Formats: sequence, structure tokens, C-alpha cells
Amino acid sequence: SWPSFAIMMRGRRPSAASKASMSPWIAFHGASFSKGAPYTPETVWFEGDDVVASFDPVLGLEVHVELGTATKMFCGCPTTFGAAPNTQVCPTCLGLPGSLPVVNKVGVESAIRIGLALNCSIAEWCRFARKNYFYPDMPKNFQTSQYDEPIAYDGYLDVDVETDEGVKTFRIGIERAHMEEDTGKTTHQGGATGRIHGADYSLVDYNRAGIPLIEIVTKPIEGTGKYAPEVARAYVTALRELLRGLGVSDVKMEQGSLRCDANVSLRRTPSDTFGTRTETKNVNSLRSIERAVRYEMTRQAAVLEDGGSITQETRHWHEDTGITTSGRSKEEAEDYRYFPEPDLVPIAPSREWVEELRASLPENPAVRRARLQQVWGISDLDMQTVLNAGALDVVEDTVAAGADQAAARKWW
Ligand code: ADP
Ligand code: MG
Ligand code: ZN
Repeated sequence: SWPSFAIMMRGRRPSAASKASMSPWIAFHGASFSKGAPYTPETVWFEGDDVVASFDPVLGLEVHVELGTATKMFCGCPTTFGAAPNTQVCPTCLGLPGSLPVVNKVGVESAIRIGLALNCSIAEWCRFARKNYFYPDMPKNFQTSQYDEPIAYDGYLDVDVETDEGVKTFRIGIERAHMEEDTGKTTHQGGATGRIHGADYSLVDYNRAGIPLIEIVTKPIEGTGKYAPEVARAYVTALRELLRGLGVSDVKMEQGSLRCDANVSLRRTPSDTFGTRTETKNVNSLRSIERAVRYEMTRQAAVLEDGGSITQETRHWHEDTGITTSGRSKEEAEDYRYFPEPDLVPIAPSREWVEELRASLPENPAVRRARLQQVWGISDLDMQTVLNAGALDVVEDTVAAGADQAAARKWW
């Protein structure tokens, strides 16, 4: 359902019934939002349902997954979560002069397996690249990443979404999956908000610096209409399940091992060129992805209906208030001066290795669910109950150990 708030605009008026269902709501005055601003006769409302009646959304999702390798991507430091600050560091991940990186083979293997599971092509030859910028959590003065030569590209993931016409499959195109490294973590002390503004000082923990990350970027997602928020959530849910099945990551969104940035734009009709997008950063739960996309669609629609235009910018998602606020605009965007990493050899995975990895992929989670449901001969509803209980593995094991499927299931 669309937000229980509405964005106020000049020129329209809500019915008494819809006003009653609009609390709490957020007022829209030019570019700024305030919660619970008073309703005035000149103020008119823009409701969520109007968004899809008047606009066609396009999405783009960028997911960062932290790999569960025992050691970091370019050094031998351990990666255990929650260790005392700065106890899992060495000259390489601290970026000290004279240190040299070495690639983690399991990191590359995981990247290829993820690429294959997403139906991607695997590069015959690719390199790392330096993404140059300075921030205290990145002591090398650059992030080792990939740029125009990603290890995996051009794939897709099918996701199922409940629609008014039953379950529909949306094919999400995958642009690329590339290897990079995580940054350290800063904590700002002394301020009221935990943000850098108003803080007395900041602490930096480099334990996370250099942990392998895979960034998975979708192609622009079109044709989702009013289901765009649900499709976004279903995609990240399916991706998370797939990554968990591959055993490459613990995929804990609350610990930051899986992070999602959501790009959203609107256009009047599907035949128009893409509208200007915003990129909402670090949305850290499945529910928030759906809410953030829904909010951003509603906000953009309100701006456009009011004759305004969308600024290409990053936005921050606020879990507590359920809104996004403006971050860095395109004009302020950094020039990363990418260039090929001279300290690492190119990656040229042999076709034999790639085929070996392809052959050892686990069954696709969606295929497995459909297969088990058919073997057990149970209804969609019964299957959903098992899935909601997170009991698929245990029921499968119990049946494999000789129990009748109905008996195995009735515990859940
Ligand atoms: P950036 O460097 O800004 O993060 P990327 O290319 O890594 O850019 O990611 C942009 C994401 O947004 C991709 O998923 C892309 O498919 C998607 N995208 C590109 N243009 C639009 C648009 N106009 N509306 C919505 N999504 C878009
Ligand atoms: Mg990006
Ligand atoms: Zn190290």
C-alpha cells in the first residue's frame, strides 16, 4: 500500500475520507518537508495512488555484499566481525608506504560463482582499478575496485511478485558484478546525532578496511508500474537468498554485510526517455527498500506535478521518519580519476575453472522451492507456511531421514 501520509501540494484538495486516512503526513513546501505541518485551505494533497496513475517508474538497484572469506581481499588479515578495533590490520590494509597487495583467490572464486548464479558472462581477462578519493576511513587514498572491466556482466535474476492478477515473474537485468574492498568504519563522538556535524572527535576502526565486497548493479528496471516498491524488495530478497545458498556471505543486512542503494526516476509514459534519478543510499532492511522506493516515487511525483524538476543527487534514508533527505548533488560529485591498478596482476580465469565452478553451483533457490513443493504435493499456502518458518532445510532433511512429509511439516 502507498504511504499513509500524503505530500501536500498547491492545486488539489483531499476528500474528507482521504484526509482522515492521512495521518501522520508530511507537508511539501517547495523543496523542504516538515512533519505534521498544518493543513490550510490553499494546501492541496497529492496521494500515493496518483503516482502510478500519472507516472511510470524506472529503478536501478546497487547491492554491496561483504564476502565471508577468512581473510581480507588483498592481505592476510582476519575478517571476524566484532573484534576489538584495529586488531585486524596490517601495513597493506592500512595503506602504509611500501606495502603491496595480493589477491585473495577465494574472493575471486566467490565473485565468479555469484556472476554465474546471476546468469552473467565471466570476463576472460579483467583488471582492478583505483578509485581515488580521500576519507579517513580509507587510508590508502583510493579504493581498489573495478571500473570498466568487471569480472561478471550481462546477466539476470527472475523474481516473483504477488500482483492483482496473481504471481508475476519480473526479469531483472544485471549490468555487472565487480570486486572491490570495504572501507574502515568511523564513529563520531560527542554530538547528539552520531553524525560528524556537532561531534567533538571521530574514531576510526580499520578492521573492516579491505574486506572483500562484490557490487551487483542492475540494468534500469522498467515495466514494474505500481509494483515497483514490491519488485525492489523482491529482488533484494531473492538476491539475498541466492547469496546465502552460495555460502559466500552471511548476508546480514543489520550488520552491513548486505547493503542496498536504490535509484529511482519517473517519466510520464513508458515510451518517454528516462527521467532524472535520485540514488537513496544504504537502505538497510528489506522492508526499508520497499518503503524508500515508495517514498521516493511519491516525493518525485509531487515535485513534478508541481512543475518542479528532480535534482540528480544521492539521498539519505531515515528509518525512523520513513523519508529521504537530500545528500550530495551531481555537481558536487567527486571525480574519482579511475586508472588500472598497477600493483595487481590482471585476473584471467581459465574457462576450465569457470566451468568447474558452474558445475558446482547449488540448485537455484526458486527452482528448489518449486521442486520440493511438487515432490511434497502441497499447496502454495502450506509451502508459504514452511518458508515463513524458515523450515525448508529442516523439513527436507526430516523427509530425507524417512519421515512422511505431512508429519515433518506439521511441527511448523
Ligand atoms: P553510480 O555510479 O551513480 O552509482 P551506477 O551505474 O553504478 O551509477 O548505478 C546506477 C544504477 O541506476 C544502475 O542500476 C542503473 O541501471 C540505474 N539507472 C540508470 N539510469 C537510471 C534512471 N534514469 N532511473 C532509474 N535508474 C537508473
Ligand atoms: Mg554505483
Ligand atoms: Zn591487512
